[in-house]
Amino acid sequence: MTTPTYRGRFAPSPTGSLHFGSLVAAVGSFLDARHYSGEWLVRIEDLDRTREVAGAASSILNSLENFGFYWDGEITYQSHRTDLYAEVVDRLLSLGLAYPCSCSRKTIQAQAVLGDEGPIYPGTCRSGPIDRDMQHSIRVMTQDMEITIQDRVQGSYSQNLAQEIGDFVIRRSDGFHAYQLAVVIDDAMQKITHVVRGTDLLSSSPRQRYLQQLLGFSKPNYLHLPLAIDHTGRKLSKQDKDAPVDPKHPMDSLLLALEFLRQPLPPERPTTLDELWHWSINAWRSDNISAKANYVAINPAP
Ligand code: GLU
Repeated sequence: MTTPTYRGRFAPSPTGSLHFGSLVAAVGSFLDARHYSGEWLVRIEDLDRTREVAGAASSILNSLENFGFYWDGEITYQSHRTDLYAEVVDRLLSLGLAYPCSCSRKTIQAQAVLGDEGPIYPGTCRSGPIDRDMQHSIRVMTQDMEITIQDRVQGSYSQNLAQEIGDFVIRRSDGFHAYQLAVVIDDAMQKITHVVRGTDLLSSSPRQRYLQQLLGFSKPNYLHLPLAIDHTGRKLSKQDKDAPVDPKHPMDSLLLALEFLRQPLPPERPTTLDELWHWSINAWRSDNISAKANYVAINPAP
């Protein structure tokens, strides 16, 4: 099988309906892929059943259709792929690159220094779980070295995982596989060459790059889109039921998303979505995108 030159994806978690922030990620990843004649896949990241909202996956997919997005291949669901994730966890364990950890959140909070991404795990269970009877998570061993991502919009982004994150969880103690692990496996299995998503995930990229290195996977190219924030500076997010987009008026939301991404707008309001997409795919300029979070007037100031 030949490797495509561009294969992108949109990977929503079904924790609510499509909201403005995820519409921006869908528009950015779709236009970047289509502009470069690439493929665009849709993957539902329904790993964490405790956060899933019933009906959210089909609502997101219906909205994508109403907005005129079209994807390549079958939609994939992470919940159908747990055997694959389990195999990789076993492989990392047998290579001595991962280990069981019995620390509770409380123990970690008591021992660890707080970093930007939460407590930096101090490696307490590296030489064996402290409490063998406790349900354990699995952590991957990090190394004391700088990992750098070259992002097309955010520029160079580095983290020293051992110092800033600590050994991180790849399977939780409740048995669910962690996002960091699943996303790396799926991107590799689906031969994703370009990851375009929100900047809230930029700080996860070094963990993902590290796992790609450990597992011998190729490295996708990254573009992290600016976050949409409300009038108070808070990120719009679907968990807060913020700013759901109205699939009945797709043209308005799409034009707003294009404006947010600082894309050229058609000289006249297109009469059909096909016309808008055709125009925007040709006109796409990823170098116009701003790195900084942008205010979007979806929820008017009280
Ligand atoms: N599932 C994640 C979300 O909905 C996106 C993951 C990714 O694009 O890597 O925020």
